[in-house]
Amino acid sequence: MTDIMTGNQQLVKQINKKLVLESVIKQEPISRADISQKVGLNKGTVSSLVGELIEEQFIYESGPGKSSGGRRPVMLLYNQNAGYAIGIDLGVNYILGLLTDLKGNKIVEINKKITVHHYEDVLLILQKMIEDLIESAPMGRYGIVGIGIGVPGLVTNSNKILVAPNLGWKDIELQKIIEDAFNIPVFIENEANAGAYGERIYGAGKDYNNIMYVSAGIGIGIGSILDGKLFTGMNGFSGEMGHMVIQVGGKDCSCGSSGCWELYASERALLDEALKAKLPQVTKETLSIELLLNLAENGNEDVITIFNTIGMYLGVGISNIINSFNPELIIIGNRLAMAKKWIEKPIKKYVNVHAMGYHQEGLSIQFSQLYNDAAALGVAALSIENFIKIKVQ
Ligand SMILES: [Zn+2]
Repeated sequence: MTDIMTGNQQLVKQINKKLVLESVIKQEPISRADISQKVGLNKGTVSSLVGELIEEQFIYESGPGKSSGGRRPVMLLYNQNAGYAIGIDLGVNYILGLLTDLKGNKIVEINKKITVHHYEDVLLILQKMIEDLIESAPMGRYGIVGIGIGVPGLVTNSNKILVAPNLGWKDIELQKIIEDAFNIPVFIENEANAGAYGERIYGAGKDYNNIMYVSAGIGIGIGSILDGKLFTGMNGFSGEMGHMVIQVGGKDCSCGSSGCWELYASERALLDEALKAKLPQVTKETLSIELLLNLAENGNEDVITIFNTIGMYLGVGISNIINSFNPELIIIGNRLAMAKKWIEKPIKKYVNVHAMGYHQEGLSIQFSQLYNDAAALGVAALSIENFIKIKVQ
């Protein structure tokens, strides 16, 4: 009996310590008395746990805070510089690497365009980027606490990349390779899941618990936050709604099906349509979303029409998602979010027409707040959480 109690006490202490740290992270600056009140632990317990957390450099004391009378309490703050995390967004035509502190503030950013897709070539660029980010990190008690990598493909719950069709990758043990190279915990996550998580923790989704994040890049993926948690499905493969069929007998898709949503509503669809339109300024060589945004900005009606059409198809697909999940927030993210000015109206118009009225009550449709950083910040956040889970005990 005594042994069981001891085990339980250890577990209870660990849970309480995390609660104390969480309340500092979420509500800093905060006094010991306020923590005690908010988490429902007595002051002695809070003081002892706070002492350990200060010793371990997770939190620190600042000057006195406001008091309603009597002695001013000492305030506690989260030590965001106790360690640093690396977040990588491995895109189809770029790699973005961020070094963040423990609050997700960007310290260093490296952005590289890539034209190679072969796994070995990409790996060399990726490893060099991680080396540079590690080297650029300031000193902190815990150093680099984790490396997160978002990839455009199917990632199992055990971090294996099964397939990344737009990169041409299959069965890649990226986690093991990077962990072996750097001896730091590594997380691999689907980029849409990563983006959803980034927005939930640091961006547009902070105040929402049921979020569908639409990652509209070269392909389309959905990241789902359900009841405040990232939902990945039984094996980690949820959210492949870019391949929901919106056109029977439509265009052939690399997934083996046809008529998939992403063939009509993604960045690739945009580029294909722009090329087909044979606009004088647009050639295979100059073609990019940046060029099209520029042309639209200069009032090019043909390009604006193409953006509107992409917005219409996005709106149609998003309506299906709204009817299926009844989310409180839709976030449109990734590269097409740059075209907000031209796609927002048609998206909202077609959602209004096609989503069920009851589902539209209280629904908010927003664009990414973190822009292109969402996925990198999301995997960095996952790494930080894992680190705290392991270290705080
Ligand atoms: Zn498909």
